[in-house]
Amino acid sequence: MIKKRLFILTTIILTAAFAIPAAAAVTVPYETYGVTLDISSAGAFIDDARITYGVVIQDPHEKLAGINGKWMMEDIDYCLALFSPGFMKKVAEAYADCDSLFNIIIETPPDNEIGYISWREDLNIVLYIDTERGINGVTKAVLGHELGHAVHYAAEYIFGNLCEPVMETFNGPYRYMGEDYSNKWDIDEQGAIFAYDYGRFNYYEDIATVFELLIADPVSMAARLADAKNIVLRQKTEFLRDLLYEVFSDECDAVFAPLVVRTPAEYRIVFLNRLMYCFTIE
Ligand SMILES: [Zn+2]
Repeated sequence: MIKKRLFILTTIILTAAFAIPAAAAVTVPYETYGVTLDISSAGAFIDDARITYGVVIQDPHEKLAGINGKWMMEDIDYCLALFSPGFMKKVAEAYADCDSLFNIIIETPPDNEIGYISWREDLNIVLYIDTERGINGVTKAVLGHELGHAVHYAAEYIFGNLCEPVMETFNGPYRYMGEDYSNKWDIDEQGAIFAYDYGRFNYYEDIATVFELLIADPVSMAARLADAKNIVLRQKTEFLRDLLYEVFSDECDAVFAPLVVRTPAEYRIVFLNRLMYCFTIE
């Protein structure tokens, strides 16, 4: 499913040779991202989401028209707007190119699930609401996590599967634990740092948990990223930011506001250095 397009890599290596680093850096206030879409009604919201973000929202049980609909629409809009309308359209188009759609589907839960994503055919983010856990499904954490998977899949679809070896280099001797991820081990001894425990599962969840906390808890994430002992978490976050910039030529400054935002030339140099490092240690 994933197409390796290594000519892109060749192109950016050639381009990077002429990139000039710039000193200026700016920060982005992440408190200011609010409503972009029309949430006056579920119908208007769904229509607006397709036009603004290229994202198809399916609401078969009309939950958005229900009692909690307004704040669910606000949270969906908030998360999509963090990536910016232009960026989300590029992600949606990555799937439209293969006659697929980027869908957000609001469903009732079959058991105790919260949300999941499938991407083999259409890119479906399924969000379950009214769960027994009392989480009410559509939260910034659940949607931020699944959107993290979505943008990662879109990047790999276009660029090729480069993320797994890079994420492994960040984790040093640690190896992903799959189903055993919750077994306790000494994080300091291994040197790997995760957004939270679920990131130990595999590299997909390592990536999605970083996005989840960036989106749902940016203030505490900023504090962790500023702490020198979390350098590995910072490196992962910077890699994901630079990867998305490289693949989509569009900034997600609001998502990555807990980091200091770089200039375009700096994005490229850091990203290429990481790739070079990854391939030379094989
Ligand atoms: Zn996940």
